[in-house]
Amino acid sequence: MINALSVLGSTGSVGTQALAVAERLCLPVRSISGNKNIELLEYQARRFRPEFVCVYNETAAKRLQIALADTNIKVGGGMSALIDCAASYADCVVTAVSGSVGLEPTLAAIDEGRRIALANKETLVCAGELVMARAKRNHAEILPVDSEHSAIFQCLEAQGCTKALKRIHLTASGGPFLGKSREQTKNVSPSEAVRHPNWSMGAKISVDSATMMNKGLEFIEAMHLFDVSPEEIKVIIHPESIIHSMVEYIDGSIIAQLGAPDMTLPIQYALTYPERIKSDISPPDFAKLSALHFYEPEPEKVPCLMLAMDCAEKAGTAPAVMSAANEMAVSLFLQEKIGYNDIYDLVAQAVNAIATCGSPDLDDIKNADEAARLFVRERV
Ligand code: MG
Repeated sequence: MINALSVLGSTGSVGTQALAVAERLCLPVRSISGNKNIELLEYQARRFRPEFVCVYNETAAKRLQIALADTNIKVGGGMSALIDCAASYADCVVTAVSGSVGLEPTLAAIDEGRRIALANKETLVCAGELVMARAKRNHAEILPVDSEHSAIFQCLEAQGCTKALKRIHLTASGGPFLGKSREQTKNVSPSEAVRHPNWSMGAKISVDSATMMNKGLEFIEAMHLFDVSPEEIKVIIHPESIIHSMVEYIDGSIIAQLGAPDMTLPIQYALTYPERIKSDISPPDFAKLSALHFYEPEPEKVPCLMLAMDCAEKAGTAPAVMSAANEMAVSLFLQEKIGYNDIYDLVAQAVNAIATCGSPDLDDIKNADEAARLFVRERV
């Protein structure tokens, strides 16, 4: 088990839950970061007494510095502070920021050999090869916090390696618009899109779940985390979100991980691994579950998932372009500047228009990310 924690994105959904888990496990929290919610950051700073708080928005950082002037807690702003927050204070960092902003801090923490409790899937989507190679070189563990990937990780532990693995069954709830056609979703509002049937999550990931882009991002995340090819991952819709994912071995045996749809479980396991520690979560009561359902996704109803699978196949900077264009489009949708169906259209156009390169380095990835954001911004 780890000694202490840094939490990037401590004001978000996974971040606040990670702090709650740390409190219950009596794990000291040495550094936290947020974007601009300084009221919550101040509350968290006073409660958890970290050495350092990063406020990504530099104007807000100055305000928090004043608010915390009566304490000895250091406050910093901007990307350099976020990198410091990730790399310098604790042996484990929960990366719960949303979007590709998590990439450089995660790399910095990897270079210091920290355990990464990875809740920022965009990091692996944009730069999976680079991140995994760097983690291997620096003996930094990357433990998934995403519930599906935590499930796969736990199922693979049964075998101790991926040698006898045949395929991964990645489950998807299908989100709030499961089975709806493009015609039926054209007037969807942000508040309808963020209303997930099973999980309570941040706005960006909730919209991604509605479009199924989230499953596409998770598809690519799984390829890198478990070193499997696109052909070795099968997405299956399972609306109840009780089975969090499964692995199939070459002998035909399938191992699944089941649990309540509660992020506390995967967060806690990433922190206590390889140990298991008591939690307050009640497991599913099988006698009370009326049924579990499974469906093949219909390609024409899940265009974002299909696009992500294409980008996974293309590799290189294609996933980085897709992910950055999606971040931009989702943000514009949440601001009601574009419609729901425009999200897919803009991301697909960006992927088609922007040239991609194979075996990218960090600069290639940053350039691809920038180009995709610019492309979407110019079209709206
Ligand atoms: Mg997930």
